[in-house]
Amino acid sequence: MTTVLFVGGGLHQRSAIQRIRGTGVRVVAVDRDEDAPGMLAADVCESVDFTDVAAVTEVARRHAVDAVLTVSADRAVPVVAAVAEALGLPGIGTATARRMTHKRTMRDALAAAGVSQPAYAAVRAAGDASGALGAVSLPAVLKPVDSGGQRGVFRIDTPSDLELDLDDATAESATGEALLEEFVEGTELNGIVIARAGEPEVVTLSDRLRPPGIGFGVGWIHVYPPSIEEHQLREAEAVAVAAVRALGLRDGIAFPQLIAADDGRVVVVEVAARIPGGQMADLVRHAVGVDLVEIALRQALGGQIPDELARPRFRQPLAIRFFTAEPGPLPTGRVARIGSLEQVLAAEGVVQAETYLELGETIHPVRRDGDRRGYVIAVADTGSEALRRAESAAALLDVEVEASMCAFELDHYRELLDAARAGGYRFATFDEAPAPGALFLRHDVDFSLDAAVRMAEVEAEHEARATYLLMTESVFYNLASPQGVAASTRLRELGHRVGLHAVYPHAVLDDRFDPVVGWHNPDPEYMSAPIVGAVNVYADPHFSRLSYRSDSNQRWRAGCPHEELRVGGFPWLQLLVHPEIWFYPGATMGQTMRAMLDAERAWRLDQLTADDVDLA
Ligand SMILES: [Zn+2]
Ligand SMILES: [Zn+2]
Repeated sequence: MTTVLFVGGGLHQRSAIQRIRGTGVRVVAVDRDEDAPGMLAADVCESVDFTDVAAVTEVARRHAVDAVLTVSADRAVPVVAAVAEALGLPGIGTATARRMTHKRTMRDALAAAGVSQPAYAAVRAAGDASGALGAVSLPAVLKPVDSGGQRGVFRIDTPSDLELDLDDATAESATGEALLEEFVEGTELNGIVIARAGEPEVVTLSDRLRPPGIGFGVGWIHVYPPSIEEHQLREAEAVAVAAVRALGLRDGIAFPQLIAADDGRVVVVEVAARIPGGQMADLVRHAVGVDLVEIALRQALGGQIPDELARPRFRQPLAIRFFTAEPGPLPTGRVARIGSLEQVLAAEGVVQAETYLELGETIHPVRRDGDRRGYVIAVADTGSEALRRAESAAALLDVEVEASMCAFELDHYRELLDAARAGGYRFATFDEAPAPGALFLRHDVDFSLDAAVRMAEVEAEHEARATYLLMTESVFYNLASPQGVAASTRLRELGHRVGLHAVYPHAVLDDRFDPVVGWHNPDPEYMSAPIVGAVNVYADPHFSRLSYRSDSNQRWRAGCPHEELRVGGFPWLQLLVHPEIWFYPGATMGQTMRAMLDAERAWRLDQLTADDVDLA
């Protein structure tokens, strides 16, 4: 009986393991986690750390395996190659495996072959930063040279981003090395290329779409065929083939990721030597009828792959939509109930759907691949119609989360202050530079001085100090009125700082204000520019994406920070909290604002009466 060694036994390996067993082959799986879903699906599982080549080789030898392979796990690729080499089994070779997993080696090989790719530079320490910034123009992407997934990947917009993110990127690298790469604007493409006897052929290219914001690296929608123009599509195919050739893959499945740039170029982001995770094998099966798992198995056994297995049999437009939190179809929070997938599966055009959701787990805003909690695949006559069908089918999955513990209410604000204290943070003011443990509590007072004063009292009870930025040009309140003067005085009495929430371009500081300014609804062009005679809260050194959270529009884009504060997860933090959102009731910004207006109405009527207006 044929026996294969499967390196990696996680969720993304499970269906491939089941498929291979279904062909009558015995599967031995190795993974550190013996309870991993793929391990449970194998005939034999051996609990070893799969990055330990000697241990994996020993398992392979003991079971006299005929082949060794992996899917989805980039870290397993060099191990598979090394074990195959050690046992004289078919494989891609360790040199090719390194070129296809180690990002700097890959870039160097592509450069040597003249393959189109972004400008890049290696960085290890802060000392390398200026050289790298000389070679690569901003914006850029910083990533560890040898780590898969989206861990340690950062977008770099300014030299100070590089300074700030470098340690986090190199920490994800076994050798402490990162790459800075030019950020090329355009359409992201995923490719599948099959190389046979040294001849690579493109099987599919598809659009890879990703969410805005902090989860920018996560692919959350795939659409086949891609949306780019025909001539750029041909160029993309040529670049994909050239890249696979340059990296030396003779027999194997390659996963090139490309960008079809707005300027007409097509550049290589990276090329992996494996079947990718994220349902790409399903995409290929439904879109062109090619079975990547069967091909991977045959190639691992050293077999030849005939054209009828490796070439597209048809071309079916489709879309994959992953189940993710907003702006995807899922709510965030602890899962209390998961509705049936049946309605999703029954929706128009749906050919496959699955969820990995479990009761009691927490759905997070999208930040990494693991925040994708399932998917829907739909087909149609065009890619865009398939996407519309996948989106509407995904919306049919009914998931309820527990009423949020993180309500925008003053009680939770108290918990947040307690969490900050428990996490060892100290309340800092903008006349100091950020230091480890500093928490800059900032309040932009857009609409309501009442709400500001109430929040300030809560903070005083908790011995917390904040910086209140008040407006002189507010449409909603008058700082020069008796009420305005009283509020401002009260904020200072409670121990807080008072700065200016300015409307561009007027940053006129008088003696009511400390020299601290934050623009109201700023445009990116001037947001971070220096302000003469004042600290700009959006400028260096007080502003950095990793150390900033905001409750704007009653939504924490990267989640409520209370838990991260409690565990000291931020080196330091500027926390923007709008008092109105916490003071007035409402589950959404719209409800909260309406509650504020209702309260204001009563208060305005009192004022009119006090002004001797006849309201009868
Ligand atoms: Zn919270
Ligand atoms: Zn504002």
